[in-house]
Amino acid sequence: MNSYRLFGVPKIFPTEAISSWLQRISQQQGVPIARIYELVKIKQSRDTDVDGLSAQISNLIEMAKLNFDEFQVAKIVSKAIRKTPPLQKQVRLEGKKIPITAFCSSCLKHDRVPYYRIEWRFHFWKICPIHLEAMKTECFCCKQRVVLNRSILFSISAVPNLAFCQFCKADLTFSTVGPLQLNARGMEKAVTQQNMMSGILNGYCLISPITKKFSLHIMMRLYQLDLLFAAQRDDFSGNFNYEQRVALLKFLETIQTRTRERERLHERASQRWRGRS
Ligand SMILES: [Zn+2]
Ligand SMILES: [Zn+2]
Repeated sequence: MNSYRLFGVPKIFPTEAISSWLQRISQQQGVPIARIYELVKIKQSRDTDVDGLSAQISNLIEMAKLNFDEFQVAKIVSKAIRKTPPLQKQVRLEGKKIPITAFCSSCLKHDRVPYYRIEWRFHFWKICPIHLEAMKTECFCCKQRVVLNRSILFSISAVPNLAFCQFCKADLTFSTVGPLQLNARGMEKAVTQQNMMSGILNGYCLISPITKKFSLHIMMRLYQLDLLFAAQRDDFSGNFNYEQRVALLKFLETIQTRTRERERLHERASQRWRGRS
C-alpha cells in the first residue's frame, strides 16, 4: 500500500458519492477505510462528499491513474454545498457530524455493482424518480442508518457489497412497499427535487418564464418558502398579478446582489487569511 501506484482501483460511477467510491476501494484494496485515508496522508475527512476533490482525494485519483473528468459530478456537487450554506443544511448527517445516506432499495437491487448516489445525501431527495419509491433512511431490520465514514466492506465478516446493512447484514434491497401512488403534491415534490439537483449541477437555478439565472442561495430560499415549484413553472405568472411579479423579481434581484457581495467579501477575507498563513 505504500507504493505510489494503486492497481485496479474501481472507477467512480457517474453519479456516485465519493464516500461510496472510497468504500469500494477499501474492499478492492483489502484495507479498512481509515487506511485509505492514511495512504493519502490525511486525517479522515469529516465528510468526503462535502470536501470533494481535496488535494488528498486528487492524490488518490492520481495514484490510481484514473481520469479526473469522471469525478466531475462529485466535484460540482461538493463545491455547491461548500458555497451555499442553506444547501449544507440539506446534507444528511447523524447528529451533527456523522455522514449518512438514504437509499432506494430498487436502485440497489438493479445495480450490477451496488453504489450510493450523490443525490441520496440530500434531505430534499425524498423519492426515487426511477422507481417512484420513497427513499429509505434506515435498515428495515435493525433500524440503523447507512453510516459512510466507517468501513462497510472491510472487516472479518464484511458484507459483500453496499446493498447490505453494515450493522445487521440484512439485505437492503428487501422492500415490502411498492411504488408510491403520487398525488399532485407528490408529483410536485418529485419534479422539484429533480430541478434542484439540475440546479446544483448547473450552478444556477432557472426561474420560468423569466428565463433568468438565479443563484443556488435563491433556489434554496425559494425551496424553504415552498415557492420553488411555482417559481419554476408558468403558474408563476398565473399565481401572481403583474405588480406582484415585478415586486418579486425585484426582491430576487436584490437578494441576488447582496448574496454576491457577501460572497465576494468572504472570498477576499479568506484570500487574506490564506496569504497570512
Ligand atoms: Zn430507485
Ligand atoms: Zn440492519
